[in-house]
Amino acid sequence: MRASGKAASGGRFLTIKDVPVAGRRALVRVDYNVPLDGDRIVDATRIRASLPTINYLIEGGAAVILMSHLGRPKGRRDPRMSLRPVAATLAVLLDRPVRFVADALGAEAAAATAALQPGEVALLENVRFYPGDEANDSEMAAALAKHGDLYVNDAFGAAHRAHASTCGVADHLPAVGGLLMERELDVLGGLLASPQRPFVVVLGGAKVVDKLGVVSALIERCDVLALGGGMANTFLAAQSCELGRSLVERSLVERAAALLTAAQRRGVAVLLPQDLVLAGQARTGVPTLVAGSDDVPADLAAYDIGPATMVAVADAIATAATVFWNGTMGVYEVPEFARGTAAIARAIAAATRRGAVTVAAGGDSLAAVAAAGLEEGFSHLSTGGGAALELLEGKVLPGVACLDTGPAGRP
Ligand code: ADP
Ligand code: MG
Repeated sequence: MRASGKAASGGRFLTIKDVPVAGRRALVRVDYNVPLDGDRIVDATRIRASLPTINYLIEGGAAVILMSHLGRPKGRRDPRMSLRPVAATLAVLLDRPVRFVADALGAEAAAATAALQPGEVALLENVRFYPGDEANDSEMAAALAKHGDLYVNDAFGAAHRAHASTCGVADHLPAVGGLLMERELDVLGGLLASPQRPFVVVLGGAKVVDKLGVVSALIERCDVLALGGGMANTFLAAQSCELGRSLVERSLVERAAALLTAAQRRGVAVLLPQDLVLAGQARTGVPTLVAGSDDVPADLAAYDIGPATMVAVADAIATAATVFWNGTMGVYEVPEFARGTAAIARAIAAATRRGAVTVAAGGDSLAAVAAAGLEEGFSHLSTGGGAALELLEGKVLPGVACLDTGPAGRP
């Protein structure tokens, strides 16, 4: 069955629930780009997030062939980035055997996946061991497509990449979204389409250049925009604060100023840090000092939001019906500068408890949520950092645009 169009044309994509799966070989792109310590998986969140789709396909009578990238092997086989340990963890989580196929291409891999029976699961080796994946090479896409007769993209975290395994493969097979892809698009798309108000956005992190697009897009949607972390410094500089040795991107100060003006025109309340935690360097054991944002000594740098700012942002969150958070409020890796981030995570968890819709995205932000033991305190923790931000910026995600739409696709 070939559906009638591609999601690129604006239609809602089909999911595995819209197509027959019994007796089919489902080639599923997942995001198993997990943190490894040797061959130990430090955090299996991304593997867990793939289980609903895999279980749905198994129960529906499909054979499941999984493919993913891991790390940046740059087109060459690198045993440190093998998916073999992931197959072992997945087998435990699924409570059934997972056949690890030590190649993603080639005759042996093809034979292994051709022999797979309904209800069986195989995981191919890292697709980025081949240069054709990131190059979105059409021959690589065609070769991958031979493993299945239905393509399922459940790799939301890689959906902003136009690679052979995320996107090119959809030229050769019927292509639908998995359950994780559907949930991510529903939740994040919902923030753009119809957020319950007040909608409070909290953005932090180090690199302001990564965040200008999302600031610009969310100014059009939110009621309160709270900025923290290193990126807030550039906005403070736009308000003529002298910030000593803090990270400030001088070349972006003018754009930051323009965004502040745009926010004001839209009636969005912008919360910039009123006070900051300062030190000579971001290292554990250093002496720290709290100062007003317009009172930073020349030889110190800001590494966290101060206590007055924590209260102001938490107060805003306390009024919110919807919260989106990305980017830590400080150098959370160093305990001295982790308090602001932890305070914001706790404030959001409290908002969730009283019924607010709360969403966090980003590798470091989610690591901070986990470190605070607050994973259950959010309505949704996105598995995609870059993909989530690009979606909220209004960009088309190639891994979604390549999926089929059809008569069964909901608008
Ligand atoms: P995410 O991974 O959640 O998208 P980011 O990568 O954007 O978050 O931001 C987290 C990073 O920002 C951390 O490595 C943290 O150390 C850094 N950071 C936050 N605040 C500052 C600051 N004031 N100065 C320098 N680095 C900062
Ligand atoms: Mg990060």
